[in-house]
Amino acid sequence: MDHAGRLSRLRSGLDENEFDSLLVTHLPNVHYLCGFTGSAAALLVSDRGSILFTDGRYRTQAKEEVSGASIVIAGKSPAMAAAEWLGARRRGSSPLTMGVEMESLTAGMRSRLQAVLKGKTRLRSAPPLIERARMVKDAAEIRCIRRAVKLGASLFGIARKTIRPGVSEVEVAAAMEYAARCGGAEGMSFGTILASGKRSAIVHGRASGARIPRRGFVVCDFGVILTRYCSDRTRTVHVGRPSEEARQLYEAVLEAQQAAIAVVRPGVTAGEVDGAARGVLQKRKLTRYFTHSTGHGLGLEIHEAPRLAYGQFQKLEPGMVITIEPGAYIPGKWGVRIEDVVVVTPSGCEVLMPTDKELVII
Ligand code: ZN
Ligand code: ZN
Repeated sequence: MDHAGRLSRLRSGLDENEFDSLLVTHLPNVHYLCGFTGSAAALLVSDRGSILFTDGRYRTQAKEEVSGASIVIAGKSPAMAAAEWLGARRRGSSPLTMGVEMESLTAGMRSRLQAVLKGKTRLRSAPPLIERARMVKDAAEIRCIRRAVKLGASLFGIARKTIRPGVSEVEVAAAMEYAARCGGAEGMSFGTILASGKRSAIVHGRASGARIPRRGFVVCDFGVILTRYCSDRTRTVHVGRPSEEARQLYEAVLEAQQAAIAVVRPGVTAGEVDGAARGVLQKRKLTRYFTHSTGHGLGLEIHEAPRLAYGQFQKLEPGMVITIEPGAYIPGKWGVRIEDVVVVTPSGCEVLMPTDKELVII
């Protein structure tokens, strides 16, 4: 991965925003910038270079993983160690400005940092420069996501074989997760969602002890983490013969998903993609049952920018990787969701591991 390029682009961004340095504490951002995957880290980025602060548990791992930054092994919290390091080297009288990441820094930590810096360095909330950079994936990242989506997609075959009336949702999820690990996954991107029968109306119905009924939808939403990158996919199957009403609901959601995929191209806003899906469901009087946004970016994290929702003006760019996942959920009755990961290309988009998505009946 191009850590040096990412760090140098970040440094220009800091200059433009008049920051002397940035303390990166959100771990996926630390990983993105220098490759470190440990669970305790702060990365101090300034004109004079970048320094990764971590603790003794990660001495060997940091040496192996980090590129583009020097390493300091600290006996205390990495963020505090960074502030002390900065304080000890501070020369001159005019105060410097250090950016901090509001979303990952607690109020307690912020005031401890301020106490250590004693007014010599001011803390200011930084704009989401790294999150913005992470929205557009480079070729190496897209390769990783492609592999993750391939492994993730293969789990649906396991689900189809395992879903039977009387089998519990967790048994199905366990079979899928075991296959994911055997396939090399470092873990799942999120707790596998397996929601059967009436539970399919719960948007995030994590697999439970509930047994799959003789008849009804089963929403399967699952993803793996492979070489640090996430996959995310949803397929909804029907156990037993579907009623005409069930078929129509499935068709409506599928049509909404295809309509949204069809409008994805550079220059289109995230809100317009959401509007395309919502428009189809509106015609079928189903909008009030579509209770979430149409999709999200994904990469090192399962939910990243951009968010594909009403009123989102972020324009799509080639290299963005997003999910398209409309759904309709009728409380107490049933629900359907269909989700794919797509890569924005210069002329449109590419669906990763596409399938025909006809309703699967078990
Ligand atoms: Zn999903
Ligand atoms: Zn998703």
